[in-house]
Amino acid sequence: MANVQLDGIRKVYDNGQVAVHGASFGIADGELMVLVGPSGCGKSTLLRMIAGLEEISAGTLSIGGRVVNDVAPKDRDIAMVFQSYALYPHMTVAENLAFGLKLRRHDRATIERRIAAAADTLGLTPMLAKLPKQLSGGQRQRVALGRALVREPSVFLLDEPLSNLDAKLRHSVRTEIARLHRQLGTTMIYVTHDQVEAMTLGQRIVVLKDGQVQQIDTPMALYERPANLFVAGFLGSPAMNVLEGRLLRDDGLKLHLDSGASLPLGAAQVPEAWLQRPIAVGVRPEHLQPAADGAAAFQARIEVIEPVGNEIFVNLDLAGQPLVSRVSPRPLPALGQMLPMALDGACLHFFDPGSGQRLGD
Ligand code: ADP
Repeated sequence: MANVQLDGIRKVYDNGQVAVHGASFGIADGELMVLVGPSGCGKSTLLRMIAGLEEISAGTLSIGGRVVNDVAPKDRDIAMVFQSYALYPHMTVAENLAFGLKLRRHDRATIERRIAAAADTLGLTPMLAKLPKQLSGGQRQRVALGRALVREPSVFLLDEPLSNLDAKLRHSVRTEIARLHRQLGTTMIYVTHDQVEAMTLGQRIVVLKDGQVQQIDTPMALYERPANLFVAGFLGSPAMNVLEGRLLRDDGLKLHLDSGASLPLGAAQVPEAWLQRPIAVGVRPEHLQPAADGAAAFQARIEVIEPVGNEIFVNLDLAGQPLVSRVSPRPLPALGQMLPMALDGACLHFFDPGSGQRLGD
């Protein structure tokens, strides 16, 4: 087992494209770290540099305390699982599992012992004699995981391993990976563009955008204290509502939007310095609720109602500003009607609209 340390890791492709700008962070021994961000943010490039499949342009990469910038992939003591299972179609599951070990000239007894252990861990024992085409997508991805498992590496690298699976299978293989991590206690680095996968799997998450690390923290800390507007909007579904305007104190704290609408911010506390200047206020859909009788409220028009079953997403319009509220199932006024809404002032996020950076703690 091993920790992984990145110091000022940078990647410039031959065409001049800077895919990763000086990333510095550590992954603790035994940690499951998720790299997440939209397509093109540099997460695969980062993972491939850790794997040794992509040259590092600048910076230092250490695995288990050893600098590995110039160490060949096969000597880094890592195993990688890709989005495409890349199984050999003419080999049985057992032969697919054995292939990498044979290449590395492990003796037969070791190969058999490791295949039996991996098959047992992943529930593949009844399928060892089958060909990949006789397996479901989820089973094939488990064989791909098994192929990494039999290597007994210090670090697992997983690049979007669930992307080819349908939604139900994604969930079951995801829990499988979480269980596997708990059972093995091996360091794992997991790349995904899916924020739900990142939130549910990661012990910590690195959020990337345009090759730059935006924030590194636990899932709930990222959700509750996003460092900037990008992280605020990327994690959480429906996304956080962001309203730009100016704060004023008259008869309680209010946010005045450029459209002229004014929203009471309830119990929110802000420093004097934030008043009168342009500000972006973030509110999660669960913190925007139909107002209780008598509470300070603002009126918004109901545009679209999306019942999910256990909850309803209510899409509202406030003088041209779209808002989403997450409410528990209940009778609601009809589409096009006005609904009195209130913000939970204790759960607001404030950002500088210019830089996008979070204000305060
Ligand atoms: P992600 O995995 O987050 O989708 P990538 O790491 O694949 O992002 O790509 C990051 C950036 O680097 C993108 O702008 C992509 O177009 C660019 N890129 C990726 N591979 C190459 C390459 N071989 N040559 C030039 N640019 C590349």
